[in-house]
Amino acid sequence: MRKNIFVTQPHLPELDEFIPYLREIWDNKWLTNNGPFHQRLEKELCEFLNVKHICLFTNATIALVTALQALRIKGEVITTPYSFVATSHSIMWNNLTPVFVDTEINGFNIDPRKIEEAITPNTTAIMPVHCYGHPCDVEEIQRIADNYGLKIIYDAAHAFGIEFKDKSLLTYGDLSILSFHATKVFNTFEGGAIVCPDAKTKERIDRLKNFGFVDELTVTAPGINGKMSEVNAAFGLLQLKYIRTAIEYRKEIHYRYKNELGIISGIEIIDEQETASQNYSYFPILIKSKNNISRDGLYDFLKINKVMSRRYFYPLISDMPMYKGLSSSNPQKLTNAKDKSQRVLCLPIHASLTDEEQMYVIEKVKEYFL
Ligand SMILES: *Cc1c(COP(=O)(O)O)cnc(C)c1O
Repeated sequence: MRKNIFVTQPHLPELDEFIPYLREIWDNKWLTNNGPFHQRLEKELCEFLNVKHICLFTNATIALVTALQALRIKGEVITTPYSFVATSHSIMWNNLTPVFVDTEINGFNIDPRKIEEAITPNTTAIMPVHCYGHPCDVEEIQRIADNYGLKIIYDAAHAFGIEFKDKSLLTYGDLSILSFHATKVFNTFEGGAIVCPDAKTKERIDRLKNFGFVDELTVTAPGINGKMSEVNAAFGLLQLKYIRTAIEYRKEIHYRYKNELGIISGIEIIDEQETASQNYSYFPILIKSKNNISRDGLYDFLKINKVMSRRYFYPLISDMPMYKGLSSSNPQKLTNAKDKSQRVLCLPIHASLTDEEQMYVIEKVKEYFL
C-alpha cells in the first residue's frame, strides 16, 4: 500500500552521526545560554549565508517579535496578508497595528507601488515576506523606506541561503528573520534567527532574547526567553553539512515539475527571478478554474490519492476572524493576494521524495486535468 506523500518531510541525517554531538553536550553540561554549539552554529551560518552577524533563536516567531522590539517600532507596520499568521502576530504581540497591502500581480510578494499609499503619520516600519524564497523588490522598498524614514524588517523565513545580485538577500533592509522549523529547508527541529548588520545591534538583540539581561545583575528591557538550546544548535551544525546536497536534490524535483506540469494549460507557474538564487523550498502552482476544474478540486483529488498538497497561503491573514475587522483587511484592496490565495497549491518537494513518488504525483495531477 502506498504511504501518504507529504508536501514536506524533514531531512534527518543518520542518528548515529548525531550521537557524538550529544555526548559532547553530556560531557560539558552546558545546555543553553550561548554554549559552544550555539557559538559554532552562529559562526558557521555567517559563513554559509555570507552575512556579518546572526542571533540564534528558539523559533522565528519569537525572533520576529524581538526584531520589532529591538528597533523600537511604534504605531503601524505595513505588511502582507499573503503569509503565515506569525508575520502579523509578531506585530500584534508588540501592541502595534498591522496594515495589509496587496501583493504584486505577477508574484507572491508585497507590491511596493501600493506601500506608499498605505503610509500614514503613524507608520514606522515595513514587514515584507520573501514568499517561497522569491526576493521582494528590495531596492524599491528601500527607496520608499528611505524617503519616509521607515525601518524594514524582512520575514525571511523562506529565504535561507538566497543570494540576490551577488550578495545575501538577508543583508537587505534593517533586519531579516529566518525560520529553522521542521518544515523549512534548513531545520533545527524548532529554531530561528535574526540577521543583523552590526555588532551593536547583535548585542542588543542578544540581550532581548535573554530576558533583557545586560550583566549578571542588570536588566534594562522587558526581554523574552528566545534562546536556542545546545541540542538544537548541535543538530543545526550536523544539518549544515548536508544542506547543499539537499538543495541540489530539491532543484531536480523543481525542474522535473516545471517540465512536466508547465505544459498543462490549466496550470500557471510563476518564473524564478534571474538575478536571484533559489532554495527550492516550495513548489507553488496556480490553477486556472474552469468547468469542473478548481484548486480545491485538485487538492481533494490528490488527497484521496494520498498526495498531501498544501494551500499555502489560504486563507489570507486578513480574512482570519481576528484580523478581519481592520480597515486594511478590506478585500477590495487586496485583490491580487486574494486571487493567488484562492488559486495556489504547493506540491510535495523535499530531500526524501523519491523519483517514483514524484512521478506518481505528476501522474495524478495530469489525471485531474484530463
Ligand atoms: C514558518 C514561518 C514563520 C514562523 O516560523 P517559526 O519558526 O515556526 O516560528 C513565520 N513566517 C513565515 C512566512 C513562515 O513560513
